[in-house]
This record gives sequence, structure tokens and C-alpha cells, in this order.
Amino acid sequence: MPRYEYRCRTCGDTFELSRPMAESAAPAECPAGHDDTVKLLSTVAVGGVSNAPAPAQRGGGAGGCCGGGCCG
Ligand SMILES: [Zn+2]
Repeated sequence: MPRYEYRCRTCGDTFELSRPMAESAAPAECPAGHDDTVKLLSTVAVGGVSNAPAPAQRGGGAGGCCGGGCCG
């Protein structure tokens, strides 16, 4: 059974519940009894797009004779 993480907006506590996926969106009650809770996305990365720069090309090898051993 998947575990879901919730956060209580009343006391700020975070807690986990194991419940069927079909009930993942059902209201959850925090251990202190508050029902003003929100479900957290604990395992899925949210927001942000990876902007890793492309690997820099190493110089040389682009035409000419240098690098081939014919220069000098
Ligand atoms: Zn609470």
C-alpha cells in the first residue's frame, strides 16, 4: 500500500499515511486530530526544469592540419 505524506496546516506537523491509491485524495486527519491538511508530493519531483548546460566541446579537430601532426 503506498504511503502518502500530508501536512497539517493547523499545527504544521507532517505525517505519513498508508492508504489505497484510490483514497490518496481523501481528507486526512493529522495525529493531533486536525483535518485541515494538505497532501504533499513526497516522491515526485515538482517544479523546475533541468537546465543542465550542454557539455562543452573540446577544441581542436575541426579542420585544419593542426592536431594531425602535420604542423611544425
Ligand atoms: Zn494538526
